[in-house]
Amino acid sequence: MSVTIKFLGGAEKVGSLGMLLETWGKRLLFDYGLTPTDPPEYPLPAPRVDRVFLTHAHVDHSGMIPWLCGHKDAIVHTVPPTIDVSLLLAEDSNKICGIEGYPQPYDKHDIAQAEMNFRPLRYGQTKRVGDIDVIPRSAGHIPGAAMYEIHGEEVMLFTGDINTTPTRLVEGAEPVRCDVLFMESTYAGREHPPREKVEYDFLAKVEEVVDRGGKVIAPAFAVGRTQEILLLLRGQGYDVWVDGMGKTITGIYQGYGGYVRDVRKLSKAMGEAKKVRGPKGRKMAMKGEVIVTTSGMLDGGPVLQYVEALKDDPKSAILLTGYQVEGTNGRLLMDTGTLDISGVREKIKMEVDFYDLSAHAGHKELVEFARETGAERVVLMHGDNREALAEDISDFAEVYLPRNGEVLRL
Ligand SMILES: [Zn+2]
Ligand SMILES: [Zn+2]
Repeated sequence: MSVTIKFLGGAEKVGSLGMLLETWGKRLLFDYGLTPTDPPEYPLPAPRVDRVFLTHAHVDHSGMIPWLCGHKDAIVHTVPPTIDVSLLLAEDSNKICGIEGYPQPYDKHDIAQAEMNFRPLRYGQTKRVGDIDVIPRSAGHIPGAAMYEIHGEEVMLFTGDINTTPTRLVEGAEPVRCDVLFMESTYAGREHPPREKVEYDFLAKVEEVVDRGGKVIAPAFAVGRTQEILLLLRGQGYDVWVDGMGKTITGIYQGYGGYVRDVRKLSKAMGEAKKVRGPKGRKMAMKGEVIVTTSGMLDGGPVLQYVEALKDDPKSAILLTGYQVEGTNGRLLMDTGTLDISGVREKIKMEVDFYDLSAHAGHKELVEFARETGAERVVLMHGDNREALAEDISDFAEVYLPRNGEVLRL
Protein backbone atom coordinates (compact mmCIF):
# COMPACT_ATOMS: atom_id res chain seq x y z
CA MET A 1 0.00 0.00 0.00
CA SER A 2 1.28 3.41 -0.67
CA VAL A 3 0.76 5.54 2.39
CA THR A 4 3.36 7.94 3.72
CA ILE A 5 3.10 9.78 6.99
CA LYS A 6 5.18 12.48 8.60
CA PHE A 7 4.74 14.00 12.05
CA LEU A 8 5.18 17.76 12.04
CA GLY A 9 5.09 17.65 15.84
CA GLY A 10 3.87 15.73 18.86
CA ALA A 11 5.26 12.32 17.87
CA GLU A 12 7.74 11.95 20.72
CA LYS A 13 5.90 13.83 23.45
CA VAL A 14 2.55 15.26 24.45
CA GLY A 15 2.06 18.61 22.74
CA SER A 16 1.88 20.41 19.35
CA LEU A 17 0.55 17.42 17.41
CA GLY A 18 0.32 17.32 13.62
CA MET A 19 0.42 14.32 11.29
CA LEU A 20 0.58 14.51 7.50
CA LEU A 21 -0.81 11.51 5.62
CA GLU A 22 -0.41 11.05 1.86
CA THR A 23 -2.20 8.41 -0.11
CA TRP A 24 -3.94 8.10 -3.46
CA GLY A 25 -2.65 11.50 -4.55
CA LYS A 26 -4.12 13.39 -1.61
CA ARG A 27 -2.38 15.03 1.31
CA LEU A 28 -4.33 15.16 4.58
CA LEU A 29 -3.29 16.77 7.86
CA PHE A 30 -4.58 15.49 11.20
CA ASP A 31 -4.45 18.13 13.97
CA TYR A 32 -2.12 21.11 14.12
CA GLY A 33 -1.52 22.29 17.67
CA LEU A 34 0.91 24.24 19.79
CA THR A 35 2.28 23.62 23.28
CA PRO A 36 1.31 26.52 25.56
CA THR A 37 4.56 26.44 27.57
CA ASP A 38 6.73 29.43 28.38
CA PRO A 39 7.75 30.11 25.58
CA PRO A 40 5.23 28.21 23.41
CA GLU A 41 6.37 25.33 21.19
CA TYR A 42 5.25 25.06 17.57
CA PRO A 43 5.14 22.16 15.10
CA LEU A 44 7.18 22.16 11.86
CA PRO A 45 5.64 24.40 9.19
CA ALA A 46 2.86 22.61 7.32
CA PRO A 47 2.87 22.45 3.53
CA ARG A 48 -0.30 23.01 1.51
CA VAL A 49 -2.73 20.19 2.14
CA ASP A 50 -5.96 19.04 0.52
CA ARG A 51 -7.87 18.85 3.80
CA VAL A 52 -7.34 19.12 7.55
CA PHE A 53 -9.16 16.96 10.10
CA LEU A 54 -9.17 18.26 13.67
CA THR A 55 -9.76 15.78 16.51
CA HIS A 56 -10.62 18.18 19.34
CA ALA A 57 -10.29 21.68 20.74
CA HIS A 58 -7.36 21.27 23.19
CA VAL A 59 -4.65 23.69 22.06
CA ASP A 60 -1.98 20.99 21.67
CA HIS A 61 -4.18 19.68 18.82
CA SER A 62 -5.95 22.82 17.54
CA GLY A 63 -3.73 25.78 18.48
CA MET A 64 -2.19 26.37 15.03
CA ILE A 65 -5.40 25.94 12.99
CA PRO A 66 -5.84 29.74 12.56
CA TRP A 67 -2.27 29.98 11.20
CA LEU A 68 -3.04 27.17 8.77
CA CYS A 69 -6.23 28.87 7.58
CA GLY A 70 -4.71 32.35 7.38
CA HIS A 71 -1.44 31.34 5.69
CA LYS A 72 -2.39 28.26 3.67
CA ASP A 73 -6.12 28.78 3.27
CA ALA A 74 -6.65 25.23 4.57
CA ILE A 75 -10.16 23.78 4.82
CA VAL A 76 -10.70 22.16 8.22
CA HIS A 77 -13.26 19.48 9.04
CA THR A 78 -14.37 18.77 12.59
CA VAL A 79 -17.51 18.32 14.71
CA PRO A 80 -19.58 21.44 15.50
CA PRO A 81 -18.74 21.98 19.21
CA THR A 82 -15.03 21.75 18.38
CA ILE A 83 -15.42 24.58 15.87
CA ASP A 84 -16.95 26.89 18.48
CA VAL A 85 -14.55 25.98 21.28
CA SER A 86 -11.39 26.20 19.17
CA LEU A 87 -12.33 29.62 17.83
CA LEU A 88 -12.94 30.82 21.38
CA LEU A 89 -9.58 29.43 22.55
CA ALA A 90 -7.82 30.99 19.55
CA GLU A 91 -9.16 34.41 20.44
CA ASP A 92 -8.17 33.91 24.06
CA SER A 93 -4.63 32.68 23.36
CA ASN A 94 -4.12 35.53 20.89
CA LYS A 95 -4.95 37.90 23.74
CA ILE A 96 -2.66 36.12 26.22
CA CYS A 97 0.24 36.00 23.71
CA GLY A 98 -0.19 39.73 23.26
CA ILE A 99 0.06 40.31 27.01
CA GLU A 100 3.05 38.06 27.68
CA GLY A 101 4.97 39.48 24.73
CA TYR A 102 5.53 36.31 22.70
CA PRO A 103 5.43 36.65 18.94
CA GLN A 104 1.90 35.78 17.94
CA PRO A 105 1.63 32.86 15.52
CA TYR A 106 -1.56 34.32 14.04
CA ASP A 107 -3.70 37.44 14.21
CA LYS A 108 -7.39 38.23 14.19
CA HIS A 109 -7.55 38.03 10.38
CA ASP A 110 -6.29 34.44 10.56
CA ILE A 111 -8.93 33.64 13.16
CA ALA A 112 -11.59 35.18 10.91
CA GLN A 113 -10.29 33.03 8.04
CA ALA A 114 -10.49 29.94 10.27
CA GLU A 115 -14.09 30.80 11.06
CA MET A 116 -14.81 30.77 7.31
CA ASN A 117 -12.78 27.63 6.59
CA PHE A 118 -14.24 25.30 9.22
CA ARG A 119 -16.64 22.66 7.82
CA PRO A 120 -18.87 20.82 10.31
CA LEU A 121 -18.89 17.03 10.23
CA ARG A 122 -21.01 14.92 12.56
CA TYR A 123 -19.91 11.64 14.19
CA GLY A 124 -20.54 8.88 11.65
CA GLN A 125 -20.82 11.24 8.67
CA THR A 126 -18.48 10.54 5.72
CA LYS A 127 -16.26 13.21 4.14
CA ARG A 128 -14.88 12.16 0.76
CA VAL A 129 -11.51 13.59 -0.32
CA GLY A 130 -10.73 12.24 -3.81
CA ASP A 131 -11.21 8.50 -3.34
CA ILE A 132 -10.55 8.56 0.40
CA ASP A 133 -13.42 8.44 2.90
CA VAL A 134 -12.89 9.98 6.34
CA ILE A 135 -15.39 9.44 9.16
CA PRO A 136 -15.27 10.94 12.69
CA ARG A 137 -16.07 8.64 15.64
CA SER A 138 -16.42 9.60 19.30
CA ALA A 139 -13.06 9.49 21.11
CA GLY A 140 -14.52 9.70 24.64
CA HIS A 141 -11.96 12.32 25.70
CA ILE A 142 -14.00 15.55 25.95
CA PRO A 143 -17.34 16.53 24.36
CA GLY A 144 -16.89 16.54 20.58
CA ALA A 145 -13.49 14.78 20.64
CA ALA A 146 -13.23 12.70 17.47
CA MET A 147 -11.01 9.96 16.17
CA TYR A 148 -10.88 9.60 12.38
CA GLU A 149 -11.54 6.42 10.47
CA ILE A 150 -9.76 6.69 7.11
CA HIS A 151 -10.73 4.43 4.21
CA GLY A 152 -8.05 4.17 1.54
CA GLU A 153 -6.60 0.95 0.21
CA GLU A 154 -6.78 -0.17 3.83
CA VAL A 155 -8.68 1.13 6.86
CA MET A 156 -6.72 3.43 9.17
CA LEU A 157 -7.65 5.07 12.47
CA PHE A 158 -6.17 8.28 13.90
CA THR A 159 -7.17 8.46 17.57
CA GLY A 160 -6.20 11.99 18.66
CA ASP A 161 -6.66 11.79 22.45
CA ILE A 162 -8.86 8.91 23.61
CA ASN A 163 -10.53 7.69 26.76
CA THR A 164 -12.27 4.31 26.82
CA THR A 165 -13.57 4.71 30.39
CA PRO A 166 -16.88 6.59 30.66
CA THR A 167 -16.71 9.80 32.70
CA ARG A 168 -19.59 11.90 34.00
CA LEU A 169 -19.19 14.16 30.98
CA VAL A 170 -18.79 11.73 28.04
CA GLU A 171 -19.17 8.04 27.18
CA GLY A 172 -15.99 6.03 26.58
CA ALA A 173 -14.61 5.48 23.07
CA GLU A 174 -15.45 2.24 21.28
CA PRO A 175 -12.69 0.57 19.25
CA VAL A 176 -13.01 0.80 15.45
CA ARG A 177 -11.84 -2.09 13.22
CA CYS A 178 -8.81 -1.05 11.22
CA ASP A 179 -5.63 -2.31 9.58
CA VAL A 180 -3.38 0.56 10.63
CA LEU A 181 -3.77 2.37 13.96
CA PHE A 182 -2.25 5.76 14.82
CA MET A 183 -2.64 5.82 18.60
CA GLU A 184 -1.90 8.41 21.28
CA SER A 185 0.39 7.30 24.13
CA THR A 186 0.00 10.00 26.78
CA TYR A 187 -0.33 7.48 29.62
CA ALA A 188 1.99 4.83 28.22
CA GLY A 189 3.60 3.11 31.20
CA ARG A 190 1.16 4.65 33.70
CA GLU A 191 -2.14 3.33 35.07
CA HIS A 192 -5.09 5.22 36.52
CA PRO A 193 -6.54 4.29 39.90
CA PRO A 194 -10.21 3.16 39.67
CA ARG A 195 -12.38 6.14 38.72
CA GLU A 196 -15.05 5.58 41.40
CA LYS A 197 -12.41 5.57 44.13
CA VAL A 198 -10.86 8.83 42.86
CA GLU A 199 -14.29 10.49 42.73
CA TYR A 200 -15.15 9.23 46.22
CA ASP A 201 -11.84 10.45 47.67
CA PHE A 202 -12.23 13.84 46.00
CA LEU A 203 -15.70 14.37 47.49
CA ALA A 204 -14.56 13.12 50.90
CA LYS A 205 -11.76 15.69 50.86
CA VAL A 206 -14.15 18.48 49.88
CA GLU A 207 -16.35 17.53 52.84
CA GLU A 208 -13.38 17.42 55.22
CA VAL A 209 -12.11 20.86 54.13
CA VAL A 210 -15.54 22.51 54.25
CA ASP A 211 -16.27 20.92 57.66
CA ARG A 212 -13.11 22.37 59.17
CA GLY A 213 -14.05 25.83 57.89
CA GLY A 214 -11.70 25.95 54.90
CA LYS A 215 -12.32 26.68 51.24
CA VAL A 216 -11.69 24.36 48.33
CA ILE A 217 -9.95 25.75 45.26
CA ALA A 218 -10.25 23.37 42.30
CA PRO A 219 -7.99 24.64 39.48
CA ALA A 220 -9.48 23.23 36.27
CA PHE A 221 -8.98 23.43 32.52
CA ALA A 222 -11.83 25.32 30.88
CA VAL A 223 -12.37 22.57 28.31
CA GLY A 224 -13.63 19.33 29.85
CA ARG A 225 -12.35 19.41 33.41
CA THR A 226 -14.43 22.35 34.67
CA GLN A 227 -17.57 20.52 33.50
CA GLU A 228 -16.44 17.19 34.95
CA ILE A 229 -15.87 18.73 38.40
CA LEU A 230 -19.20 20.57 38.33
CA LEU A 231 -20.93 17.27 37.50
CA LEU A 232 -19.10 15.62 40.40
CA LEU A 233 -20.22 18.34 42.83
CA ARG A 234 -23.82 18.35 41.54
CA GLY A 235 -26.40 17.63 44.23
CA GLN A 236 -23.83 17.60 47.05
CA GLY A 237 -25.22 20.77 48.58
CA TYR A 238 -22.06 22.88 48.58
CA ASP A 239 -21.92 26.58 47.79
CA VAL A 240 -20.03 26.16 44.49
CA TRP A 241 -18.68 29.01 42.37
CA VAL A 242 -17.29 28.76 38.86
CA ASP A 243 -14.87 31.30 37.39
CA GLY A 244 -12.87 31.67 34.16
CA MET A 245 -13.52 30.57 30.61
CA GLY A 246 -15.02 27.26 31.77
CA LYS A 247 -18.30 29.17 32.14
CA THR A 248 -18.47 30.04 28.43
CA ILE A 249 -17.30 26.59 27.34
CA THR A 250 -20.00 24.94 29.47
CA GLY A 251 -22.55 27.16 27.70
CA ILE A 252 -21.27 25.93 24.32
CA TYR A 253 -21.57 22.28 25.40
CA GLN A 254 -25.10 22.87 26.67
CA GLY A 255 -25.97 23.97 23.14
CA TYR A 256 -24.65 20.67 21.70
CA GLY A 257 -26.45 18.15 23.89
CA GLY A 258 -25.72 15.21 21.59
CA TYR A 259 -22.01 15.43 22.34
CA VAL A 260 -22.43 15.26 26.12
CA ARG A 261 -23.33 12.09 28.05
CA ASP A 262 -26.26 13.74 29.85
CA VAL A 263 -26.84 17.36 28.95
CA ARG A 264 -29.68 17.73 31.50
CA LYS A 265 -27.29 16.81 34.30
CA LEU A 266 -24.70 19.23 32.95
CA SER A 267 -27.27 22.04 32.85
CA LYS A 268 -28.36 21.19 36.38
CA ALA A 269 -24.76 21.18 37.61
CA MET A 270 -24.11 24.53 35.93
CA GLY A 271 -27.39 25.88 37.28
CA GLU A 272 -26.46 24.93 40.85
CA ALA A 273 -23.08 26.66 40.60
CA LYS A 274 -22.86 30.43 40.91
CA LYS A 275 -21.01 32.22 38.14
CA VAL A 276 -18.34 34.73 39.08
CA ARG A 277 -18.61 37.99 37.18
CA GLY A 278 -15.87 40.58 37.66
CA PRO A 279 -13.78 41.50 40.72
CA LYS A 280 -16.89 42.04 42.87
CA GLY A 281 -18.03 38.51 42.05
CA ARG A 282 -14.65 37.19 43.20
CA LYS A 283 -15.16 38.75 46.61
CA MET A 284 -18.55 37.04 46.84
CA ALA A 285 -17.08 33.72 45.69
CA MET A 286 -14.56 33.94 48.54
CA LYS A 287 -17.50 33.63 50.91
CA GLY A 288 -18.53 30.36 49.24
CA GLU A 289 -17.20 26.85 49.86
CA VAL A 290 -15.84 25.52 46.57
CA ILE A 291 -14.36 27.53 43.69
CA VAL A 292 -13.79 25.81 40.33
CA THR A 293 -11.60 28.01 38.16
CA THR A 294 -8.98 28.29 35.42
CA SER A 295 -6.17 27.82 34.83
CA GLY A 296 -5.78 24.11 35.47
CA MET A 297 -2.00 24.33 35.94
CA LEU A 298 -2.10 27.64 37.85
CA ASP A 299 -0.27 29.50 35.08
CA GLY A 300 -2.45 32.59 35.21
CA GLY A 301 -6.22 32.94 35.22
CA PRO A 302 -8.43 33.86 38.19
CA VAL A 303 -7.16 30.88 40.25
CA LEU A 304 -4.07 32.82 41.34
CA GLN A 305 -6.17 35.60 42.87
CA TYR A 306 -8.02 33.09 45.03
CA VAL A 307 -4.85 31.30 46.04
CA GLU A 308 -3.11 34.56 46.85
CA ALA A 309 -5.94 35.44 49.24
CA LEU A 310 -5.95 32.00 50.88
CA LYS A 311 -2.28 31.02 50.76
CA ASP A 312 -1.67 31.33 54.52
CA ASP A 313 -4.81 29.40 55.51
CA PRO A 314 -3.94 25.78 56.33
CA LYS A 315 -7.66 24.97 56.67
CA SER A 316 -8.17 25.61 52.94
CA ALA A 317 -7.08 23.28 50.15
CA ILE A 318 -6.05 23.26 46.51
CA LEU A 319 -7.39 20.11 44.86
CA LEU A 320 -5.57 19.44 41.58
CA THR A 321 -7.29 17.06 39.18
CA GLY A 322 -5.25 17.30 36.00
CA TYR A 323 -1.76 16.26 35.03
CA GLN A 324 0.67 19.07 35.92
CA VAL A 325 3.17 19.44 33.10
CA GLU A 326 6.87 19.96 33.87
CA GLY A 327 7.70 23.66 34.02
CA THR A 328 4.21 24.83 35.04
CA ASN A 329 3.24 26.58 38.24
CA GLY A 330 1.08 23.58 39.21
CA ARG A 331 4.08 21.27 38.99
CA LEU A 332 6.10 23.75 41.07
CA LEU A 333 3.36 23.60 43.71
CA MET A 334 3.35 19.80 43.79
CA ASP A 335 7.14 19.57 43.96
CA THR A 336 8.01 22.45 46.30
CA GLY A 337 4.83 23.71 48.00
CA THR A 338 5.47 27.14 46.49
CA LEU A 339 3.84 29.09 43.67
CA ASP A 340 4.95 31.91 41.42
CA ILE A 341 2.37 34.66 42.00
CA SER A 342 3.00 37.80 39.88
CA GLY A 343 6.72 37.06 39.73
CA VAL A 344 7.15 36.40 43.46
CA ARG A 345 7.79 32.90 44.83
CA GLU A 346 5.21 32.39 47.60
CA LYS A 347 5.05 29.61 50.20
CA ILE A 348 1.59 28.02 50.11
CA LYS A 349 0.32 26.89 53.50
CA MET A 350 -2.93 25.47 52.13
CA GLU A 351 -3.32 21.71 51.86
CA VAL A 352 -2.47 20.49 48.34
CA ASP A 353 -3.83 17.19 46.99
CA PHE A 354 -3.95 15.50 43.61
CA TYR A 355 -6.86 13.47 42.21
CA ASP A 356 -6.42 11.67 38.90
CA LEU A 357 -9.58 12.64 36.97
CA SER A 358 -7.77 12.11 33.68
CA ALA A 359 -9.62 12.14 30.36
CA HIS A 360 -7.02 9.83 28.75
CA ALA A 361 -6.96 6.06 28.54
CA GLY A 362 -4.35 4.58 30.91
CA HIS A 363 -1.68 2.09 29.81
CA LYS A 364 -3.76 -1.08 30.01
CA GLU A 365 -6.77 0.55 28.35
CA LEU A 366 -4.53 1.64 25.45
CA VAL A 367 -3.24 -1.93 25.07
CA GLU A 368 -6.82 -3.29 25.13
CA PHE A 369 -7.99 -0.67 22.64
CA ALA A 370 -5.17 -1.48 20.21
CA ARG A 371 -6.01 -5.20 20.39
CA GLU A 372 -9.73 -4.65 19.93
CA THR A 373 -9.23 -2.64 16.72
CA GLY A 374 -7.72 -5.77 15.14
CA ALA A 375 -4.96 -3.59 13.64
CA GLU A 376 -1.84 -5.31 12.30
CA ARG A 377 0.31 -2.21 12.29
CA VAL A 378 0.38 0.42 15.03
CA VAL A 379 2.02 3.83 14.93
CA LEU A 380 2.48 5.23 18.45
CA MET A 381 2.47 9.01 18.88
CA HIS A 382 1.82 11.82 21.37
CA GLY A 383 3.65 10.35 24.38
CA ASP A 384 7.08 10.49 25.99
CA ASN A 385 7.20 6.81 27.00
CA ARG A 386 6.00 5.05 23.85
CA GLU A 387 8.54 2.26 24.37
CA ALA A 388 6.55 0.96 27.36
CA LEU A 389 3.48 0.60 25.18
CA ALA A 390 5.43 -0.87 22.26
CA GLU A 391 6.72 -3.60 24.57
CA ASP A 392 3.20 -4.69 25.50
CA ILE A 393 2.02 -4.89 21.89
CA SER A 394 5.22 -6.34 20.44
CA ASP A 395 3.24 -9.29 19.02
CA PHE A 396 1.61 -6.98 16.44
CA ALA A 397 3.01 -7.31 12.90
CA GLU A 398 4.61 -3.84 13.09
CA VAL A 399 4.88 -1.19 15.79
CA TYR A 400 6.38 2.13 14.72
CA LEU A 401 7.72 4.93 16.95
CA PRO A 402 8.34 7.70 14.40
CA ARG A 403 10.23 10.88 15.27
CA ASN A 404 9.09 14.37 14.35
CA GLY A 405 10.06 15.17 10.77
CA GLU A 406 10.73 11.53 9.83
CA VAL A 407 8.97 10.23 6.71
CA LEU A 408 7.46 6.80 7.23
CA ARG A 409 6.25 4.61 4.38
CA LEU A 410 3.65 2.14 5.56
ZN1 LIG B 1 -6.86 16.56 24.63
ZN1 LIG C 1 -3.41 15.77 23.50
